[in-house]
Amino acid sequence: MPGPVFPAEIGNWIEGREVPAVAGQWFSKLNPHDGSEICRAARSQADDVQRAVDAARCAYVAWSRLPGVRRGELLTAVVDAMAARRADLAQVVALETGKSPSAALGEADAAIALGRFMAGEGQRMYGRTTTSGAPNRQTSTVRQPLGVAGLIIAANTPIANVAWKVFPALICGNAAVLKTAEDTPITAWLFAQIAHQAGLPGGLLNVVQGLGREAGAPLVANPQVAVVSFTGSTAVGREIASVAGARLARVSLELGGKNPFVVCDDADLEHAVKWALLSAFSNAGQRCAAGSRLIVFEAVYQRFRDLFVAGAKQLRVGPADGDDFGPVINQRQLERILRVLERAQAEGAVVLTGGQRLMDPAHRNGFYLAPTVIEGAAAEAEVSGTELFGPVASLYRASDFESALALANRSPYGLTACIHTASVHRAMGFVQRVEAGVAVVNAGTYGSEPHMPFGGVKASGNGSREPGTEALDVYSSLKNVVVCTDPARL
Ligand code: NAD
Repeated sequence: MPGPVFPAEIGNWIEGREVPAVAGQWFSKLNPHDGSEICRAARSQADDVQRAVDAARCAYVAWSRLPGVRRGELLTAVVDAMAARRADLAQVVALETGKSPSAALGEADAAIALGRFMAGEGQRMYGRTTTSGAPNRQTSTVRQPLGVAGLIIAANTPIANVAWKVFPALICGNAAVLKTAEDTPITAWLFAQIAHQAGLPGGLLNVVQGLGREAGAPLVANPQVAVVSFTGSTAVGREIASVAGARLARVSLELGGKNPFVVCDDADLEHAVKWALLSAFSNAGQRCAAGSRLIVFEAVYQRFRDLFVAGAKQLRVGPADGDDFGPVINQRQLERILRVLERAQAEGAVVLTGGQRLMDPAHRNGFYLAPTVIEGAAAEAEVSGTELFGPVASLYRASDFESALALANRSPYGLTACIHTASVHRAMGFVQRVEAGVAVVNAGTYGSEPHMPFGGVKASGNGSREPGTEALDVYSSLKNVVVCTDPARL
């Protein structure tokens, strides 16, 4: 099947046109399935970021004055164009990430659903009316755009991550500069083209390709960027919070997780195993919401472990439909995971299955890690507290509900959490007391939808929630409007 056509060199997208980086430099994007070069992408620097910010500032003037409903109509046209090109979007996502075509199509559809919901928010940009203590004063709040939104994303679900940021930023009346992930340059490039062809005015969405320190950092530091929204690692998130915070920009941080998946002694074990496998391994564990800490009651530990390890051994690893998961995104990430696993074993953890790179002929050129299950790591060990962002699950024993909950909460992160139990008491106790932004009963550690707020506590974020209607709070500010009337002049 012929795929979408893209050039060998993927430029920036500024003011509705594709342009190379000012310095004329490029970096190589490799195929995670076989290590070959897919394309080169513009290696942008501060100059390129400034050009994109300038274009966004110009486009902002007219866009911010358009009523939200009209903005929503234009964004609906973009969403319709995405739907018409969903197969192309999915093909690029599959190529850049190594995930299967069907998984990529699911991701494209999720991005489209999110875009549709956000476009509809143009009709629901509600404020409040309230009373005043003074007579003849009418007061209400209205939402106002902020200006230029600086958007920085990770590569794990590239088209979903683009949609997650761009649609809420634009519907609120902002113009955007997207510093896309260096591992997925083509997805953002294709999205920008589709949006442009659907009629999005030039300059409203600008895409800057490049590396974090060179192209992301100048966007964060730029005084003309009013809001910085970031999806990525906690380490980079902290840096962004400090730089953008110092200049008093709005900052939204969607960061990492090391999410607990608790299995009680009254759980339906086969159901729990099915969901644990999906939580730990889907998308090769490259989800902020991955269930990477499996906390199992002593009474069922051995049975659960045997079923889970047997299930993990059966997973098919590769880029095709029918495979359960693909490669990790790049060699650096693969090596980092292997180093943490080595240190974990040196500290006493036992690898029950996996633990190595796949070196058979079908996999050896790609960045493939075998599905990996370990046990015996201490709760305070590096491997227990570090997000690996790969197909690795760690098993822990708990004597009862309280010790399972304590272990679940013993983490620097607090993004998602799940419990498997037949008891309404345990289920409700868990969802109330677990330290997480998403709590799930009897399914996976994920499952958010476009209209639901997503985000975490502790080191998983700074308290903002995207998407859902709550995303409007990230990308708009509230103005309190006071109108006084004079009854004598009626
Ligand atoms: P990363 O933090 O290394 O990079 C993310 C993005 O930030 C990339 O575009 C990168 O170029 C850019 N960047 C890097 N350094 C920067 C700097 N100094 N200034 C500005 N930008 C910079 O993360 P990653 O390893 O690519 O992605 C995986 C992480 O993303 C994981 O921690 C994962 O949990 C997280 N994530 C979170 C969510 C969520 O919604 N909470 C969703 C997806 C991924």
